[in-house]
Amino acid sequence: MLDKRLFYINGSWVEPELSNDFDVIDPSTEETCAVISLGSQADTNKAVAAARASFESWMFTPKNERLQLIESILEEYQKRAEDMANAISLEMGAPIEMARQQQVGTGLNHIKGFINVFKDFNFDQNLNENTPNDKILYEPVGVCGLITPWNWPMNQVTLKAIPAIAAGCTMILKPSEVAPLSSIVFSEILHEAGCPAGVFNMVNGDGVGVGSQLSAHPDVDMISFTGSTRAGIAISKAAADTLKRVTLELGGKGANLIFADANEKAIKNGVLRVMNNSGQSCNAPTRMIVEESIYEKAVSIAAEVAESIKVSSGHETGRHIGPVVSEVQFDKIQNLINKGVEEGAKLVAGGPGRPEGLNRGYYVKPTVFADVTQNMTIYNEEIFGPVLSIMPFTNEDHAVELANDTDYGLTNYVQSEDNEKRNRVARRLRSGMVEMNGLPRSSGSPFGGYKQSGNGREGGIWGLEDFLEVKSVSGWSS
Ligand code: NAD
Repeated sequence: MLDKRLFYINGSWVEPELSNDFDVIDPSTEETCAVISLGSQADTNKAVAAARASFESWMFTPKNERLQLIESILEEYQKRAEDMANAISLEMGAPIEMARQQQVGTGLNHIKGFINVFKDFNFDQNLNENTPNDKILYEPVGVCGLITPWNWPMNQVTLKAIPAIAAGCTMILKPSEVAPLSSIVFSEILHEAGCPAGVFNMVNGDGVGVGSQLSAHPDVDMISFTGSTRAGIAISKAAADTLKRVTLELGGKGANLIFADANEKAIKNGVLRVMNNSGQSCNAPTRMIVEESIYEKAVSIAAEVAESIKVSSGHETGRHIGPVVSEVQFDKIQNLINKGVEEGAKLVAGGPGRPEGLNRGYYVKPTVFADVTQNMTIYNEEIFGPVLSIMPFTNEDHAVELANDTDYGLTNYVQSEDNEKRNRVARRLRSGMVEMNGLPRSSGSPFGGYKQSGNGREGGIWGLEDFLEVKSVSGWSS
């Protein structure tokens, strides 16, 4: 078992102030694979003090030095890719090949993406060409608390830590206590890359502890949070007394609108997209909404695709999905599958219980419900497991109405070969992102939601600007 009790504060690995051990469970086996410490107020205070003390000097570090640090981080990240993949696979169950390609790969792409954005970003801008004495200065927000979830650990950590470093902020990362191992590797990467002491700190802890301590801390200027809408609300309330900036990337309940003229692979791809990462993606297209004339066909294709998906250990090579992250998530998903059956949705693939032959580990059957209706729990609640809901629509207005009938607004999907219709529908969808005809959004695009899916935008220039203040100065001598 790995002993990972130390925190990274002020450039060193340090003992927690109070001992408070917490077991990290390997979801593929249900065995304890590591022990970490949950931090206390004293640890939080120490990390915040280190970040505060280094802020002034880091803020005024020349842009080129900050760029060099991020380039060194990229180099170290590439060197440690295999350690990172193993850590992610162990802590949250991603199959090892998927962890290497997708989980580690997405972090790599974000670091590269921010290097490009940062190189081109002008931190000192003119108001306009007729106002030579006015200057607009983009400055770091200050000390940032970065609170991240377990489902795409390095995706979320890099989307926060890299632009924060680029902006000139200093920070305290509190990764998910359920999946802290990858963030420990990330802290080692930053140390090896030569990150100055105090600029980046990492304290493990849970939400009620270090999470809320950071959110309420008077010396923290900003919280960048990714996780559940429940925790996003709690953080916003805890942060209100100090009026710090809070950016939120929360849950989703994406609709995948499949018109009768869609490419024939749209249904298969839609199912695979939901099941990827065992359904634990906030932007998963979990409500497949299909035009009436092809509905029956879509249901049978979806059932067939789901039944063909193999479920197995995260430690095994090959193409399959792994377990879900924890017993808590397993139980929540099982309850929602049972609710779907009770409330009258038609189960066409998977269902309650573990897949055959898998008695230990948090494995869930790839599940598809048809004839789901707007009043059902599985239509409204984020399940965060390999569960797809399908329902029919009658016409374009009905499709848009169903897609928008949710408290969330993260990513919606449209499949149609009719260009005008696709564009028209994209404009009417109330979500931060719309992906159409299976084309991924390009690197440098903003990621974020409307409504209860949050308020910030991560990635690209928007992801850098989230960590910047705008200062307007007159009388500037140019
Ligand atoms: P979670 O909200 O339980 O935990 C996320 C993080 O917040 C963890 O580090 C946790 O310790 C911390 N936390 C929990 N309660 C807190 C509190 N009261 N104060 C401060 N911190 C607190 O979520 P999770 O179960 O780890 O992750 C799954 C959720 O994350 C899903 O709802 C998913 O949709 C969402 N998510 C959103 C995005 C996005 O970008 N929109 C990306 C990934 C995951």
